[in-house]
Amino acid sequence: MSSFASFCRWFVLPCALLMAQAPTAIHAQSGAALPALGDGAEMSLSAERRLGDRIARQLYRDPDYLDDPVLGDYVQTVWQRLLVSARARGELLPELEERFAWDILLGRDRSVNAFALPGGYLGVHLGLIAAVTSADELASVMAHELSHVTQRHIARMVGRQEAQGPWVLAAMILGALAVGSNPQAASAMIAGGQAVAIQGQLNFSRDMEREADRVGYGVMAQAGFEPQGFVSMFEKLQQASRLNDTGGFPYLRSHPLTTERIADMQARHQLQASRVAQAMSLEHALVVARARALSLSGQDALRNLLSQARAGQNQPTKLPQQAGNLYAAVLAAIELRDLPQAQSWFDQLRALVRQDTAAERLVRLLGAELALKRDQPERALEQLAPLRQQGQALARPELFLWAQALARSGQASLSAQHLQTWLARHPRDALAWQLIAAAYLAQGRAVAAVRAEAEAFAVHQDYEAARNRLRAAQDMARKAGGGDYIEMSIVDTRLRQVETRLREQALER
Ligand SMILES: [Zn+2]
Repeated sequence: MSSFASFCRWFVLPCALLMAQAPTAIHAQSGAALPALGDGAEMSLSAERRLGDRIARQLYRDPDYLDDPVLGDYVQTVWQRLLVSARARGELLPELEERFAWDILLGRDRSVNAFALPGGYLGVHLGLIAAVTSADELASVMAHELSHVTQRHIARMVGRQEAQGPWVLAAMILGALAVGSNPQAASAMIAGGQAVAIQGQLNFSRDMEREADRVGYGVMAQAGFEPQGFVSMFEKLQQASRLNDTGGFPYLRSHPLTTERIADMQARHQLQASRVAQAMSLEHALVVARARALSLSGQDALRNLLSQARAGQNQPTKLPQQAGNLYAAVLAAIELRDLPQAQSWFDQLRALVRQDTAAERLVRLLGAELALKRDQPERALEQLAPLRQQGQALARPELFLWAQALARSGQASLSAQHLQTWLARHPRDALAWQLIAAAYLAQGRAVAAVRAEAEAFAVHQDYEAARNRLRAAQDMARKAGGGDYIEMSIVDTRLRQVETRLREQALER
């Protein structure tokens, strides 16, 4: 069972912004037990961060956790604009910004969901990315979740349970979330009595929801997103809730929270002069297609994407939809290991997007990805070359594909150099550590490669795995009889640091 998927269902539904399947019994007991805002039982910044770290540590290991550079880049671009706006508006205070992780975890889950975790971690399901019509809609959901963090709603909600002790609390949050995707487990939890009563209190109150709407709306509007996106996302979720509401979800039908929030939203909506529904941009259509394709598993679902692309060819579909179908078909064919087929869809796609710079970028990235799958690293470099601009650092998706293509075309040293520059600025990028490990290996630098693998584990706080890799690096260096003294001393230092972290973790229990 995937704790990633289930965590979100459980945690966010009380948030009522997003609809998924969740045990109604937990909702039913939520509202009444909640004190109003400002009850003072707030968790400290460092305690909240530590709690978030514990939870994130588990989610990083979840098979549904996905670091996709292309989708990650799209989501991060939205997120960074929101952070700048929240900072400018005085919502995001310097101390909070400094102490929290501000990390986004993507989950390979088809349900429409996003969730704020303690300590500044944010979870986003691919299902949400696939469901939004624009970056503005995505921004509205993320701004709402961000506001739960900046308004310290999580600190207040969780702070009341602090007597439970952090390990119990983290286990409770993660454990309870395991019920989301498994109704049998849900019944068992509900029968569990007290544990469920506590979980019921880990919900946001109605006032917190309205505050997150109000603050989030201001943040996203000031960030330059179309406020209409907030309204249309809200309508979309209401629509989804009505469709899901077949009597099994009385909370969604009757909870007054929804009515109040809709009223608030309509009042804001009336302030907006323009109400023209946005058409989906070509770039966004490709992002949606990627989220759809990557959230699917199983041959049937992937073949279905191929049939959709085929059907689209014979129908008068709009350009973004047509391009999206082709993009998804390329990914599906890659996944099904039919590379010639993927190439053929790709060639059609490329011809469609020549006039649109943002979409062309995504198609070039896809082309490089496909070329690497076809074991044609030179072709990948050709695809990426126009995306490199004089004097400008490469964005993350470009850099990572570029570095892989270099490492596989006899230029491993150059690949490692690019990644080193990146890691100097982004030392917490686990995927960059994994890629540089491959580049080191291609250079024959085995000790450095194993050390880089250890760093990737350490970033995700898996200190045991990190320690094992560092010990392996020590052994390798010893057997090789010396060699790279600088690398060996780095390994020794890092091993001591990682062992300290492990001892600290043991004490925290
Ligand atoms: Zn909420």
